[in-house]
Amino acid sequence: MIFFKSVKNRSLNKIAIFIFLASAIFPSYLMAHDTTPERLGPVVSTSNAVSTPQASSVMYPFSGEGLLNEEGKAAKLSSPSIDSLSMDSLSMDSLSMDRVLGPWILPSDSSLHHVNFTAPPSLLGHGKTNAEEDTEVNVESSRQPKISIIIDDVGYNRRGMESSLKLPTEVALAILPHTPFGEKTALKSMEQNRTTLLHAPMENQRELKLGPGGLYVSMSEHEFKSVLRDDLANLPGIKGVNNHMGSLLTTNAQAMNWVMQVLGESNLFFIDSVTSAESVAYTMAQRHSLLASKRDVFLDNVREVNAIDRQFQKLIQLAHKNGQAIAIGHPYPETMAYLLKRLADLNDVSVRLVPIDDMITPPSR
Ligand SMILES: [Zn+2]
Repeated sequence: MIFFKSVKNRSLNKIAIFIFLASAIFPSYLMAHDTTPERLGPVVSTSNAVSTPQASSVMYPFSGEGLLNEEGKAAKLSSPSIDSLSMDSLSMDSLSMDRVLGPWILPSDSSLHHVNFTAPPSLLGHGKTNAEEDTEVNVESSRQPKISIIIDDVGYNRRGMESSLKLPTEVALAILPHTPFGEKTALKSMEQNRTTLLHAPMENQRELKLGPGGLYVSMSEHEFKSVLRDDLANLPGIKGVNNHMGSLLTTNAQAMNWVMQVLGESNLFFIDSVTSAESVAYTMAQRHSLLASKRDVFLDNVREVNAIDRQFQKLIQLAHKNGQAIAIGHPYPETMAYLLKRLADLNDVSVRLVPIDDMITPPSR
């Protein structure tokens, strides 16, 4: 559904603009696109000063057309679903997510590129400049702010496994490696088509015990990477990693560099649990072109239903403010009972619960 046609001659910008305008009179062509997410082919460019063509894909159902300028930013984009998107509201980064194949490398020559694109549903509404109401229900709901929830510290006991697997399948589980129920939880999570993360134990400032598979600042590069690779290999179906503790390790640039190198080997995403305000993990993940995001709210630092509810309200407020927000909770009975009930119906707070995979920002460039 998506492809580039490089406009070979640099003087042809006007022609490219013409193509863009002409596309506006063929909305029926665009409307005819099916709405099934699909994997797309490589960037095709025939111009002379092009960086190495990379496989790229966007897996979202909303299609449109537009132009890219020389920086690979969207100069002008339009879509039958979105009306129009300007460069102000949308960069090509927003369209280039592909956590399987890596970052989208755009041709680096200076010509304009005509592009057919598919846009993430999250952009609907944000980019809409003419407030013409869409009637389609799926478009309506896709405008709602997104929340995503990760349950950390899973793996030590059966109760935690069973209660977390009862939550809606959009809720991700972050499993500690080499734990009694780690592998079993990961397998069941996979059966449910639920996203599973390695909850990588990282050194903290309070010298709290990390348990097996812990990563420490004092480790050599070789030891550090072998432990992390072994942690990953211990759990089937891992799609990403977040940090368990790590108030010390996540502030260490070298250690985070090694973490992201290992994650890059398997195209895993990284979620910074933000256990230290000085964490460089998210920045380092972006520097390594990994898909990454950060935790916004801890739900249950206080294990009491009113406190959990207050944190949940904070999550909702942040989602409404920023368009999305990520929470981390733990498999405590109080949290599990609260979430099971609360997530069953989110209509009253007008947010959507989505898998953590849908919350990850592409690398900035
Ligand atoms: Zn943890």
